[in-house]
Amino acid sequence: MEQLTCALLVVGGGPGGYAAALRAADLGVDTVLVEAGHAGGTCLNIGCIPSKALIHVADELDRVRRSSAGDGGLGIRATPPHLDLVTARSWQQGVVGTLRSGLEARLRSTGVRVLAGWATLVDGKSAVVTTSAGEVRVTAAHVLLATGSRPIELPGLPWGSRVVSSTEALRVEAVPERLVVVGGGYIGLELGTAYAKLGSQVTIVEAADRLLPTLDADLGAAVGRGLEHHGVDVRLSTSAEALAPAGDALVTRTADGSTAALPADEVLVAVGRRPVTDGWGLEDLDLDRDGPFVAIDDRCQSSMAGVYAVGDLTGEPMLAHRASAQGELVAEVVAGLPRRWDQRCVPAVMFTDPEVVTVGASEDGDNPVVVGRAPLAASGRAHATGDAHGFVRVVARAEDHVIIGIHGVGREVSELSAGFAIAIEMGARLEDLTGSVLAHPTRSEALHEAAVAALAQSSRLTRSTKRSG
Ligand code: FAD
Ligand code: NAD
Repeated sequence: MEQLTCALLVVGGGPGGYAAALRAADLGVDTVLVEAGHAGGTCLNIGCIPSKALIHVADELDRVRRSSAGDGGLGIRATPPHLDLVTARSWQQGVVGTLRSGLEARLRSTGVRVLAGWATLVDGKSAVVTTSAGEVRVTAAHVLLATGSRPIELPGLPWGSRVVSSTEALRVEAVPERLVVVGGGYIGLELGTAYAKLGSQVTIVEAADRLLPTLDADLGAAVGRGLEHHGVDVRLSTSAEALAPAGDALVTRTADGSTAALPADEVLVAVGRRPVTDGWGLEDLDLDRDGPFVAIDDRCQSSMAGVYAVGDLTGEPMLAHRASAQGELVAEVVAGLPRRWDQRCVPAVMFTDPEVVTVGASEDGDNPVVVGRAPLAASGRAHATGDAHGFVRVVARAEDHVIIGIHGVGREVSELSAGFAIAIEMGARLEDLTGSVLAHPTRSEALHEAAVAALAQSSRLTRSTKRSG
């Protein structure tokens, strides 16, 4: 068996693994990266990127379709569009292919040794990789586990031709007439919206009593109004049970026990993802777990010294940028730098219509907060680009005005997320935002307006406290 030694062995080439490998190589750490599928992992190949490409196709189609119907009041008339799915798919694959080739080239140029194959851990220092050319034993001073996650399968709805996960839903071969989406979370709402714009009659079935149940209620409610606008039928407090015997309907059960059969040509199940913890020797390593996830400390180290874990394998939030940030941290720790995970926030963006951004908290335990909200209805840019729905909200500690959360809903607010995250990460106070000059006309100005509104609330609070005192 071929033998390889290195300083860092990375298992899994998704955003967690590849970011670690690139950073480690930059820092002079001799690194081997093992990937069984394609470089880029879930995010680049079957997640973030193909989904955003599909959403873009659906958005463009919807825009032209609405123009052809005279919607929008811009005076633009187009002929009713036709979607050539073969071309759209090849464009989507081209986006993925271009980014993947770029990533592979970067891995090569930084000197990361990439092994294409399946890694099985032997112990906390070595793994056997099954490649097309045979087995390779890799021994390392440090090991990083970044095996990611896979979609959860529901017991009553095994994967099959009609019951699909996001992976199959992203490869649109035909637009189903009636699509039922199980799960009103990230994937269900992003892909449900896209399919509605592509022409499917979409029904979303959500077990909780609201959409995006992990977020503030007004954010999910805004997405709910957007879905209604696109003709999507949303069934809350409803669970998916099984396919009807004829296979052409989904049987659901509501909280009060009543059942219904929703006609479905396709059922997309998006009820969460679980970490990939089986089939690669993790069981024998017997690392501490946090539920189904690998437990890690603030250096992303597992319960075994020298064995690190990042990304979806380590739990929520299962987001690509969290995985990458953790991966870079591990590379720096392995290179001997004094790094700890001390980030104040990890932004989350939902690419729905309207988009949602949420960064940081909405409350500070029992401590009083001030909240400023700026509607996009007051934004010149939002009006001038035809959609002034939504808002930006800033939450700050009442005591010292340090900003603890910024949230937004509206068209293209995803691009505001960087400013939101940087403000919180740098410990900005409301006065830092009101004292910053932001370009006009842009949607970002709503950040300034929300901070102004929060300061006004703070002044009112101070005046009323003085009066009552
Ligand atoms: P993964 O990306 O899952 O990579 C793990 C890799 O490890 C895989 O390539 C796998 O082949 C490999 N592997 C596993 N076991 C072994 C082994 N034993 N040997 C060798 N290789 C192995 N996140 C966002 O932040 N923004 C988004 O817009 C977004 N959209 C998404 C859309 C969809 C449809 C989905 C499904 C997910 C989306 N996500 C998004 C989540 C994001 O994809 C994940 O959080 C991210 O990919 C996690 O990165 P990771 O490195 O932990 O694991
Ligand atoms: P999710 O956790 O976001 O949503 C799952 C939803 O399914 C929940 O609202 C839950 O209440 C509901 N549910 C669970 N069981 C059900 C049942 N039997 N019937 C009806 N509803 C049920 O999970 P997801 O949408 O599968 O996404 C997985 C992960 O992928 C997300 O947590 C996120 O981290 C990541 N992701 C991120 C993005 C992004 O950043 N834009 C996009 C897609 C996916």
